[in-house]
Amino acid sequence: MTASEHKAPNLSKTGRKVTPMLAQYLEIKAQHPGALLLFRMGDFYETFFEDAQTLAQVAGVALTSRDAKSDHPIPLAGVPYHAIDTYLTRLLGAGLTVAICDQVEDPALAKGLVKREVVEIISPGTATAPELMDSVGGHFCLAWLSGQNQRNGAWALVDASTGSFRCGLEATTLPSLCQRHRVREVIVSENDPPDQISAWQTSLPETVINQVNSAWFHPALARQTLLEHFQLASLSAFGLEDPEREPAVSVAGALLRYLKSLAMRRPDQVTSLQFSPLTDRLVLDEETLRNLEIFQCFRGEKGPGTLVHHLDGTKTPMGHRLLELRLAEPLLDLKALERWHLGVEAALQARQLRADLRATMTFIGDLERLAARTASGRSGPSGLRQLGTGLQACQKLAQTFAAGGEGFEPMASWLASLPDLNEVSTRILATIAPEAGASTRKRGFIAPDVNQELDHCRDLAKDSKGFLTRLQAQERDVTGISTLKVGYNRVFGYYLEVTNKHLEKVPEHYEQKQTLVGSCRYHTPELKEAENAILAAEQRADELELEIFQDLLKTVALRLPDLRESAQLVAQVDLMLGFAEIAERYRYCRPNCDDSLEYNIKDGRHPVVEQLVESTFIPNDTTLDNSSHQILLLTGPNMGGKSTYLRQVALIALMAQAGSFVPARSARIGVVDRIFTRVGASDNLARGESTFYMEMSETAHILHQMTSRSLVILDEVGRGTSTYDGLSLAWAMTEFLGSGQGPRPRTIFATHYHELTELETTLPGLENLQLEVKEWEGKIIFLHTVRPGRSDKSYGIHVARLAGLPAPLLRRAEDILAQLATGDQRDLPLRQATMHDFGIAAETKANWRIGSSEAQLSLFSEAQRDALSALRSLDLEKISPLDAFAWLLKIKQQLDQN
Ligand code: ATP
Repeated sequence: MTASEHKAPNLSKTGRKVTPMLAQYLEIKAQHPGALLLFRMGDFYETFFEDAQTLAQVAGVALTSRDAKSDHPIPLAGVPYHAIDTYLTRLLGAGLTVAICDQVEDPALAKGLVKREVVEIISPGTATAPELMDSVGGHFCLAWLSGQNQRNGAWALVDASTGSFRCGLEATTLPSLCQRHRVREVIVSENDPPDQISAWQTSLPETVINQVNSAWFHPALARQTLLEHFQLASLSAFGLEDPEREPAVSVAGALLRYLKSLAMRRPDQVTSLQFSPLTDRLVLDEETLRNLEIFQCFRGEKGPGTLVHHLDGTKTPMGHRLLELRLAEPLLDLKALERWHLGVEAALQARQLRADLRATMTFIGDLERLAARTASGRSGPSGLRQLGTGLQACQKLAQTFAAGGEGFEPMASWLASLPDLNEVSTRILATIAPEAGASTRKRGFIAPDVNQELDHCRDLAKDSKGFLTRLQAQERDVTGISTLKVGYNRVFGYYLEVTNKHLEKVPEHYEQKQTLVGSCRYHTPELKEAENAILAAEQRADELELEIFQDLLKTVALRLPDLRESAQLVAQVDLMLGFAEIAERYRYCRPNCDDSLEYNIKDGRHPVVEQLVESTFIPNDTTLDNSSHQILLLTGPNMGGKSTYLRQVALIALMAQAGSFVPARSARIGVVDRIFTRVGASDNLARGESTFYMEMSETAHILHQMTSRSLVILDEVGRGTSTYDGLSLAWAMTEFLGSGQGPRPRTIFATHYHELTELETTLPGLENLQLEVKEWEGKIIFLHTVRPGRSDKSYGIHVARLAGLPAPLLRRAEDILAQLATGDQRDLPLRQATMHDFGIAAETKANWRIGSSEAQLSLFSEAQRDALSALRSLDLEKISPLDAFAWLLKIKQQLDQN
């Protein structure tokens, strides 16, 4: 959904009288046409005109109208100010950008119309308040600049809630990037063509795409924006002076400018920019992320069933976000991988230490977001205190580790390099009261003994209240009015209240202030003096609390780089401990990553499926390389476990390169630079692309982009068209992958085209594997064991029976299958296929063997099938060489005639 333009009409044309308040509203609205304007009026945020209709529709509040009786009523809808977060969540969730317009002066002191200003604009991808984000995961706004084709471009990614800011060049598409990271909002140039925008919108239904001023992307302006924000003379510190990286500068500058325009101030939480080179990470594209169910299940659900959920053993939000990043961008660097695996190993062995550290971790909280909110001045008292508690827990973490983790690298080095923030946490915890609320509106958030004057004012206010109690008793005594009481309201201040029954006893020096139905309220000079003292003391105390708080916020904000560093180090330790926990829980092994092109797994398992299957999960080995085991061609029955096996191979590589241990007995992995998958038949009708077109387009992408270091997973490629077209394409594709015409990536291809197994004789790098199945008393038993060899049956009808297809239909299918298998198609209205129809080249024909393809639709003409059945019935034991020659001659002549 895009943020629509919410315009206010030109009222002068309607002849309506514009009140000063309405004029103020219209003026402010005109400055923010792209946002829904929440206009503060007393205890409500009001909206008018189209905004009111939108608010009513999205937030489900009543739509009323102002000046209902006039000729031109104005649509009106409002929400209570104290419940604003609930409504903001709904508005942002609907993809709207919201401008919050507050009263910026005290209405009691305002002369005439209260001054109002937009204090903040919140868009779906730039929210920072925890209540506005749906999880502890990343919450990103992405800027994108398309390259020459849709499969590359430059990007910048900011999480306004943590201050994390990165940019880079991309080899996949914008939708791939959005799927890899939790992108809520994308900004692109207003010059991007509308059909491109709507194509992105279709691919990304849950992401808002906003078009912004194209000048923001201009390299010179973008560079200037960055230099000014970071107060630098050059961008070399970020590695961004290389001309090839200019597009990354453009997007980063545009994104920062966008952030500034929304926040209405400097985004102080953004303290650095990281360039992320393409060569640093294992590249995963949109299809692979979807097929491997890394962040979302096939049907789009998040949570259970996804890899990220399964591998999450972290205890802090920072650790969780680092896990998301690792799975989105697994590592390629062997040294870094070695360090991670070593660290997980150490954590796995040190059970007690791990448990102690993880227990401490739970007290750290979201240090990163709390620090960012503090730096941007949005933290409330309780948030700041949580930051102090979190920092204290970090120190405890380091102490716990120092006591038992000596030599456990790299965690020892990470924890040793935690910045010393002792002073900051001590000061926060000493200054903010434990019971402090989320907002400074609730007084009492500064602890006692922090400031002498504050303590004095509080004593005074408290004492005066005691004085009022004493005064009430004294006046009751003097006047004899037993029901006399001292009260307070905001308009009249403190008063003495006497019920009508006792009015004649009221002394003369009581000054009447207010008459109510059953009572009167009075002032006395003594009461007025006490009131002044109380109010002055309270007001001064409020001022002092706020001053102390602001001062503390500023001091803490100065340490933002250290706070962020601490948060990152904690994230690393947390993730490492989490990986160890998962490795122990599910019996994972330490992978051995190197720069070979080998992939050797003993007893590999699918990490998620093994937890879901009711029976025992059967482990399987995998050997891939770029010579004799370059292509594994996997055949086997439906439901045999082919897809599971394929995915398990990809997931083991991905997990290893994310730094995790893997579900296997042993694993040697030559690092993979890209994982490509083409799994099943999926279509994108909304994008106007047919199933088969999608299949071919994704396959083309793989064949163009793969390198010898890639891992290619193909499941059922060629199924979306006629059998012969599909088989021909699958055949040629396998030859292309294995023939050495291009790179020879490690490949696994699962197929029901059993004819492809013939390629083992012509492609030296191809090995046939099959999934074992047993037939017993007319039933089939899936063994889920992968072993060398080829399968010649798919058992599709058995699986259809399991799925509950009607019995007569199944019987008919069995008949048809039997006829097809014997080649007797007399009862079937099927067109006879010839080798010519099939279009297979003569030299390829020669390589075909008969036997494995019987259960498939026959590829041979009737004469050829007759020849085959004659050959089958020939008894070689009983025929002489001469007769055999004569027999062969006859068969050949018959074949030549057809
Ligand atoms: P189709 O050809 O019909 O797509 P398939 O061969 O790809 O089927 P899968 O979808 O991988 O089969 O597996 C079917 C089911 O078999 C899985 O959902 C899982 O429950 C079970 N399964 C797969 N592999 C194993 C295994 N190694 N051990 C135990 N159960 C397994």
